[in-house]
Amino acid sequence: MNMKEYIDEAESALLHTYNRYQIVWDKGDGMYLYDIEGKKYLDFVAGIAVFALGYNNKAYNDALKAQIDKVIHTSNYYYNIPAIEAAKKLKKISGMDRVFFTNSGAEAVEGALKAARKYAFLQDGHTDHEIIAMNHSFHGRTFGALSVTGNPHYREAFEPMIGNVKFADFNDFESVRAQVTDKTCAVIFETVQGEGGIYPTEEAFMRQVRALCDERDILLILDEIQCGMGRTGTMYAWQRYGVKPDIMTSAKAVGCGVPVGAFMMTERVAQHSLTSGDHGTTYGGNPLACAAVSKVIDLFEELDILKNVNETGAYLYEKLDALAAKYDFIRAHRGVGLMQGLECEGAVGDVINRAVEKGLLLINAGTNIIRFIPPLIVSKADVDDMIGIVDACFAEMEGSCIGTRKMDET
Ligand SMILES: *Cc1c(COP(=O)(O)O)cnc(C)c1O
Repeated sequence: MNMKEYIDEAESALLHTYNRYQIVWDKGDGMYLYDIEGKKYLDFVAGIAVFALGYNNKAYNDALKAQIDKVIHTSNYYYNIPAIEAAKKLKKISGMDRVFFTNSGAEAVEGALKAARKYAFLQDGHTDHEIIAMNHSFHGRTFGALSVTGNPHYREAFEPMIGNVKFADFNDFESVRAQVTDKTCAVIFETVQGEGGIYPTEEAFMRQVRALCDERDILLILDEIQCGMGRTGTMYAWQRYGVKPDIMTSAKAVGCGVPVGAFMMTERVAQHSLTSGDHGTTYGGNPLACAAVSKVIDLFEELDILKNVNETGAYLYEKLDALAAKYDFIRAHRGVGLMQGLECEGAVGDVINRAVEKGLLLINAGTNIIRFIPPLIVSKADVDDMIGIVDACFAEMEGSCIGTRKMDET
């Protein structure tokens, strides 16, 4: 079958919840994906911040194959060695004390919210606790995660959400403080807002919210699903702030392609929240997923991924700054490490479509922002190639009206 035929079949079988690019993938290698007609694309999307190690890493593939030949799934009623290894390594890179494995990011958020409610319940026996979340946040598509997602567009048709969630403005401490009551059990935000437009947490905000949480015995939950696993130059983005969350979430790059996530907590929260029978999952922490997590963390060290993120991230910053200076329709450039965004005057769909034509994959964040989230193995030469293509797309569009096509949100 040719590409068009596959796409027609897809559109008659899959539920239409995405407006997909007209591409059917065949395989990946390093920084590149290949479609079934053999066209090669430089990838600055990485499966939405998932494929940190690039495609087809041999050591990663071999570790998965070896685990497949042993056992793929058992059950959480027993122990398995990959889960033990992966949990130990996650503790080490995060500094947290207890790990619960999930199958996705949204499920990690669900678990974090349940842990916070249980913690508060054990403190005062009440069942009316409140959670403070941020406007423009994104935490996933399940009901709990959606309930703390501060974007009405994702929620509207699915109301009512879980109760007692209040929204504050991100990076505005007074707005958070104004929402605190005796019932507040948790504050949740992304250390760097991803879908909301690549907004890093400001240092003062992080410190002030942490202090407020300490003072009122409120749990701080940081969502590191997109910005974690080295993407900003530290294993977890919060580690550069000199504070620590009580509960955190991780997913996306933590398995580098195998569906897996985790929520983690400090010992203090672990001792006073979820216990036997409170939470569970059939697949979560299965040997195959955990073999992936374990190998990913080893490879981060072996390949010195953080060093590359810091060096190539700085280089990317410089190059995007230069583009922002060159074109009037670029309003702002933000981000940290290999998580950066260019905010444009209008919708960025046309730019991204042109880039795809020229063999470069980019993704938006909201309507107006081009997001740059490449595999963490990206080189300066790859950045140069990417910048060359984006520059060419911008040049073609100069004078014409940028921003006619409304983008989907992920
Ligand atoms: C992607 C994402 C999620 C949801 O993860 P899924 O694996 O898609 O459920 C949650 N929070 C953040 C910050 C994300 O970027």
